[in-house]
Amino acid sequence: MRFTKIVATLGPATCSTENIERLAKAGVNVCRLNFSHGDYAVHGQTIENIKSVNKKGFSLGIMLDTKGPEVRTGDVKQPIKISAGEKVVFAFKPGLKQKMKVITVDYPKFSDDVRHARCILIDNGAIEFSVLKIEKNGSVIAKALEEGTIGSRRHVNLPGAHISLPSFTEKDWSDIRFGIERGVDFFATSFVRTGKDIKMLKVFLHKHKSEGEIIAKIETPQAVDNIDDIIDASDGIMVARGDLGAEVPFEQVPAIQEMIVAKCREKSKPVIVATHMLESMILSPMPTRAEVTDIAFAAKLQTDSTMLSGETTTGLYPFKAVAAMDRILRVSERVELRYREKQFLSFQQSLESDLPRREQALAASVLATKLRADAIISISKHGNTARAISHCRPLVPIHAFVEEDSMMRKLMLVWGIVPHSIDFSDEPEVTLNRALALFLKQPGVKRGDRIVIVSDIRTNDVPVMTIQIRTIS
Ligand code: PEP
Repeated sequence: MRFTKIVATLGPATCSTENIERLAKAGVNVCRLNFSHGDYAVHGQTIENIKSVNKKGFSLGIMLDTKGPEVRTGDVKQPIKISAGEKVVFAFKPGLKQKMKVITVDYPKFSDDVRHARCILIDNGAIEFSVLKIEKNGSVIAKALEEGTIGSRRHVNLPGAHISLPSFTEKDWSDIRFGIERGVDFFATSFVRTGKDIKMLKVFLHKHKSEGEIIAKIETPQAVDNIDDIIDASDGIMVARGDLGAEVPFEQVPAIQEMIVAKCREKSKPVIVATHMLESMILSPMPTRAEVTDIAFAAKLQTDSTMLSGETTTGLYPFKAVAAMDRILRVSERVELRYREKQFLSFQQSLESDLPRREQALAASVLATKLRADAIISISKHGNTARAISHCRPLVPIHAFVEEDSMMRKLMLVWGIVPHSIDFSDEPEVTLNRALALFLKQPGVKRGDRIVIVSDIRTNDVPVMTIQIRTIS
């Protein structure tokens, strides 16, 4: 059992049906489609491929990640080589005749906003340019501080500047509509700035009858400043460390990550730690020890999910990268859980909450941990009880029995939950028996296993919340 979930971004290396199935078997829980790249034909086909894999008994969640108000370089036939100290021209208009190399950007107000930036960063900071001159025609002359190459549609960050694009561009709204029509489970929103941005999208999703969850990507200083409002308004958070580490000094990223994971855990919202987790595995079959330690740190924080980007889109070793992440998480969790066991065994305090469901979840988590139970079984149509149990981070897998397949896919992002779907009866005992019958078929379940069940039963015709201890016979 692995408690921390894995989100993998799909791309040319992985978007076929066969490869998605390989990813699922290697341990991926949620597939992410990055709408900064690709067209509708490709994304539509990829979504169909994920759905066809799900028909074979998987429950991969589907996440649409918007481009957002970001700036990227244009398409190039060959990567542009830049030498240290070289002067280049950044321009919105392609085809500009210049003696220097021209790097096109997809943002017409680039020359206005660059005035307020400390520098220009390409590819999350892989190459830094200092601005030398802003011409009247809108081109910007800049000097490279180090050598590198610039491929197609690379990130452009202007630290210190406010990009004067709306939080959702026309392209984003059109992409979101595309995702709604295809029933994606999560909308990851790039460069959100405030809780209001999220509320606006919520209204839009509601109007279009989508039950997709909103995952706010935190990648600007403004979003960090508004973190409480953003967490409250959204269904989950992504610590998007690539852009974040370009927009704020990168040495601040670990502390921001820790703060965001802690806040999300407090507020019981799923949180994803993303980007550069196994970056070296894009080209190498073996991770660096620093990357291994980074994933272990995320597991120690008990983040809900960790994410792969380039490693699984264009990388040479996408399946090895997933297998590596899976192994690192499992081993790190084992160490962390052993450490936390003591803490749990002496747990007497209750959650400061008057919500009976939370108290029930905490009691079940403590009980299951103290009894060294093999699983917690949660029966709740909409998965809320399972989420409340996950919030307590028990040392035991949580098998969540819910009604809808779409809910199963949403729970794929949440720490420690193994989701299943069953038909719910009006009689809680009938539902419980259906759940137990399915649980008994799970790999590794055997006679003598002890389980803690969190469900309703009916007594004298009224539903009663219960926690039961049973042994599989
Ligand atoms: C990031 O910047 O870390 C990120 C996840 O966003 P994207 O991959 O869309 O740039």
